[in-house]
Amino acid sequence: MGTPVNIIVGSHVWVEDPSVAWIDGQVTKINGNEVEIQLSDGRTVVEKLSKIYPKDEEAPAGGVDDMTKLSYLHEPGVLQNLAARYQLNEIYTYTGSILIAINPFQRLPHIYDSSMMEQYKGAPFGELSPHVFAIADVAYRAMINEGKSNSILVSGESGAGKTETTKMLMRYLAFLGGRKGTEGRTVEQQVLESNPVLEAFGNAKTVRNNNSSRFGKFVEIQFNKNGRISGAAIRTYLLERSRVCQVSDPERNYHCFYLLCAAPQEEIEKYKLGHPKTFHYLNQSNCYELVGINDAHDYLATRRAMDIVGISQKEQDAIFRVVAAILHLGNIEFAKGKEIDSSILKDEKSKFHLQTTAELLMCDPVALEDALLKRVMVTPEEVIKRSLDPDGATVSRDGLAKTTYSRLFDWLVDKINVSIGQDPNSKSLIGVLDIYGFESFKLNSFEQFCINFTNEKLQQHFNQHVFKMEQEEYTKEEIDWSYIEFVDNQDVLDLIEKKPGGIVALLDEACMFPKSTHETFSQKLYQTFKSHKRFIKPKLSRTDFTIAHYAGEVQYQSEQFLDKNKDYVVPEHQDLLVASKCSFVAGLFPPLPEETTKSSNKSSKFSSIGSRFKLQLQQLMETLNSTEPHYIRCVKPNNLLKPAVFENANIMQQLRCGGVLEAIRISCAGYPTRKTFYEFLLRFGLLAPEFLEGNTDERIACKKILEKLNLAGYQIGKTKVFLRAGQMAELDARRAQKL
Ligand code: ADP
Ligand code: MG
Repeated sequence: MGTPVNIIVGSHVWVEDPSVAWIDGQVTKINGNEVEIQLSDGRTVVEKLSKIYPKDEEAPAGGVDDMTKLSYLHEPGVLQNLAARYQLNEIYTYTGSILIAINPFQRLPHIYDSSMMEQYKGAPFGELSPHVFAIADVAYRAMINEGKSNSILVSGESGAGKTETTKMLMRYLAFLGGRKGTEGRTVEQQVLESNPVLEAFGNAKTVRNNNSSRFGKFVEIQFNKNGRISGAAIRTYLLERSRVCQVSDPERNYHCFYLLCAAPQEEIEKYKLGHPKTFHYLNQSNCYELVGINDAHDYLATRRAMDIVGISQKEQDAIFRVVAAILHLGNIEFAKGKEIDSSILKDEKSKFHLQTTAELLMCDPVALEDALLKRVMVTPEEVIKRSLDPDGATVSRDGLAKTTYSRLFDWLVDKINVSIGQDPNSKSLIGVLDIYGFESFKLNSFEQFCINFTNEKLQQHFNQHVFKMEQEEYTKEEIDWSYIEFVDNQDVLDLIEKKPGGIVALLDEACMFPKSTHETFSQKLYQTFKSHKRFIKPKLSRTDFTIAHYAGEVQYQSEQFLDKNKDYVVPEHQDLLVASKCSFVAGLFPPLPEETTKSSNKSSKFSSIGSRFKLQLQQLMETLNSTEPHYIRCVKPNNLLKPAVFENANIMQQLRCGGVLEAIRISCAGYPTRKTFYEFLLRFGLLAPEFLEGNTDERIACKKILEKLNLAGYQIGKTKVFLRAGQMAELDARRAQKL
């Protein structure tokens, strides 16, 4: 970002501060490159001239609703503006056409009312306060007027407010494109009611968010030629599977398990349920209830939502039967058997749960026991059954639970899509993407790798778009922009997804080769990317690897990469459930095509989560590329999940990860400051009052002032003056001398 060129004694400036990110003060002395500043908290510091930024003393106290209206487009200015607005409960701010939304962590009165929707309907963009409705409205108008598909990309870290924002967008689109007064299940109602259903099965309490979506989602709303909603499709990405069997305190498993345990007595008896405490998959964490959530009430609400999206009573019963079966399955424990490396059911309790699991899944209990305890080995000579030791049997049990649950989730998504229905004649659509933001934790595994891969993809899309918008503005104003460049992250994407040779491809190779371990995989990475500038081998580890992502470096632990990448259902489990007497359960496990089961060729049998995800991402990008994108960046103001707490450094980091600062940087590379001729003359007319006399043309007056001041590189467009980074500060300094 542009460094200040004209700082004088008395200038108001921003200084970097380790605790609050940026603090303001006034320059008291300048000594060559060193500046002494009296800070607003009373301290005096000395800073390098290149490390301080001018503060706009004339910025309105309540902030401006669009960052591009700021005189100084730098980090502290951006942060100050957001803070000032947040304090007034103005949670939305534009950066050009990008909407920044800061989670209020409290229900703000009226801002999502139907009267509010009425106001935003058809209002010119920028006329009313920034709002999600305004973004949805622009997308809808653009679609109607230009017949082009649009998309709204909502991003941000967990708990930032993506899912809530998405729901507001969908409500507004249903308001614009719904059929008033229609009875029964309309498409828009089904689209809206798909949220509680998917949330019951795909959301859980985590440390970051009490209602965290554990999957990515792209909702495509189709419109007919009259601009009415005529169909919809939901695509989901990467449901977190491990949560089904592994929960750490104080998080919870997926909501549906607790809902079911709070169901009416009749169901509790039918499914032989009890308090969540009695189930291993739930009692690994001490958190059972959520503040403000009534599981019994939500159970019935989920059932009603299922009715609306077209899931029959019979299907609902089967769904919850499977959910109950998973709970019982998790309670089956194993002990050492008589033979070496074999195992048996641990006790009577385990036998009861095995029996119940089999009843609920409508499969043979003996076959279930076999599928959990044994593996079939096929050698050229014979077929032998090998026993698993208790640890192996536990892994087998958890594998079955995870597979069954993720198949159930996919079934729900498919069912919702079928029942809402697609409009084959739809000419245009609006897609809404609610997807996990960049993640960098203490420990980062395969999930973080996939999530950050997604974010690299979206970041590239975003940069290209912002860059294009910038160019369009310059073209519209007929100014020269030929030399502006932007940093592309294609090199990181190549590192990850290049075929052959990228990390995803190398991981697949490792998974197909039986002798590979995470150690050999990591060694291979170190060799291959020795000189890649985005790849780093951490000094203190022999198996970790670090990727220099656009949003910062992330160190990944490779231990579970191979296991997590394998998308493989144990044939014993497959055979067990495909034989279920319940057609719903059997339907979750469609028989594998003949050739792949018989084939001895490993690669045809192999499918990997990484490659499948890469393909899904490619398709998503193709869809997005055929649409006009709109961006909403959600920001989580604090990690306490509390209203009115604005943590500067934390927010800064998110703006960086969300590309907001990159967008600002791109515009800084061009002409960050734009003032209409009128605004410019109002502020700087006094620098050359001689040009303002008579009725001089505004454009010519601006030009003459700039010429007189000997600035270079600025441009004069058709309606605005475009200044290079730092020029605004220079003009302000001259002005300060005059005042
Ligand atoms: P994400 O999907 O980004 O993980 P959510 O959308 O689930 O985050 O939001 C987390 C929580 O923050 C919500 O459960 C809600 O309590 C609160 N929240 C988010 N957005 C808003 C909003 N616009 N108004 C009020 N509360 C909100
Ligand atoms: Mg969410």
